[in-house]
Amino acid sequence: MELSAKATLLICALAGLLLVAAQGADTLQDATRRGLDADTGYLEALYKHLHAHPELSYQETNTARRVAAELRQAGFDVTEGVGGHGVVGVLRNGAGPTLMVRTDLDALPVAEQTGLAYASKARARDDKGNDVSVMHACGHDMHMTVFTGASRRLQALKATWRGTLVMIGQPAEERGGGARAMLKDGLFERFPKPDHAIALHVDAGLPAGSVGWVEGYALASSDGLNLTIRGVGGHGAWPHTTKDPVVLAAQTVLALQTIVSRELEPIAPAVVTVGSIHGGTKHNIIPDEVRLQLTVRAYSDDVRDHTIEAVARIARGLAQSAGVPESLMPTLTFEDERIASTYNDPALTRRLAKVFETWLGKERVVGVKPVMGGEDFGLYGRTEAKIPICIFWLGTVSREQHEAAQAGKVKLPSLHSSGFYPVIQPTIQAGVTAMTAAALELLGSP
Ligand SMILES: [Zn+2]
Ligand SMILES: [Zn+2]
Repeated sequence: MELSAKATLLICALAGLLLVAAQGADTLQDATRRGLDADTGYLEALYKHLHAHPELSYQETNTARRVAAELRQAGFDVTEGVGGHGVVGVLRNGAGPTLMVRTDLDALPVAEQTGLAYASKARARDDKGNDVSVMHACGHDMHMTVFTGASRRLQALKATWRGTLVMIGQPAEERGGGARAMLKDGLFERFPKPDHAIALHVDAGLPAGSVGWVEGYALASSDGLNLTIRGVGGHGAWPHTTKDPVVLAAQTVLALQTIVSRELEPIAPAVVTVGSIHGGTKHNIIPDEVRLQLTVRAYSDDVRDHTIEAVARIARGLAQSAGVPESLMPTLTFEDERIASTYNDPALTRRLAKVFETWLGKERVVGVKPVMGGEDFGLYGRTEAKIPICIFWLGTVSREQHEAAQAGKVKLPSLHSSGFYPVIQPTIQAGVTAMTAAALELLGSP
């Protein structure tokens, strides 16, 4: 009997402990919810401000200043001008793991057509001197808002975690140059080197209030190629005196499609798209050259290298078979900055997916497919330190729109389109909750 009394006592004690633990977890989530509720007006106003004042890649002066001010207000040590307009905020909170959270800052040369009251009317001069409209058509304004909300929650909850929080505002994501520039400027040397790095990106198809996750390759490499096919021009009625680059270009476009279908393993995804083809001036003139612009996407570095090598080989081989002189072989150059693929560390991703389920509820956490879009966030996991990284997706579509799309009644605007916008709530609420939960999971406990 004594044993069983002891056992009863033990069970009671255990139950008590569990109760305390459960209450503790609840309290943390409640505290986050309460803080977030109090911040709602602030964050919505911030979002509308950022949305109405977008800046192009490499021109994020005011955006960076605002993100820096928000971090300072949340108690972070802030350094500006890291790798261009990059902002680094550090919050030290005792011994423990270091976590990096990243937002991007830049917008796109798109004329907004959402009809929203807070729609952007901004204009700017691009690199080439063109006067262009500017819009946050990729949702980086939402990323900054969620980032700010999370920084404020994590500061407020400082007593519940230990470690170092590094929150960065990264410029020029859309041009694939910002992450590289920040790393080159000593992001991992001048500031605490993270044990993990996380970020989120809005998703144009997931319902607002939910998040999506994908482990392993999540986003592809992205290379812009300029392929110029050269020939010997002449009169359209004397083709035998020419080497026609138009016919050669046509053959090349089709032959390039055999790279994915015939050269690569069927289970190794890649894309070769010829997005632009220009040559000639008139019906009866055979031109000297035809210019092609391609995008090449892949997950593995081997597939990426092989595909690019194959583009050059096929273009050259077809030119040779057409009898084009050696001095006029096709030329191949790369456009802008090149992006490697983004690999979500599987263990880290599964850990976060589990935390999201606890904080948001299972029905609001969705496993999604990888995409062939590109993101330079992947670079933070590709340094010598091989830091485990994870970028997850944040739903933005209203319930009505999502249902209509599921029923095939509407086609949702994609990211980068003039009609894309996230519904403000519950997008901000879910984003801040998920980011705060992820950070608390990866930071240490007191
Ligand atoms: Zn984008
Ligand atoms: Zn983006």
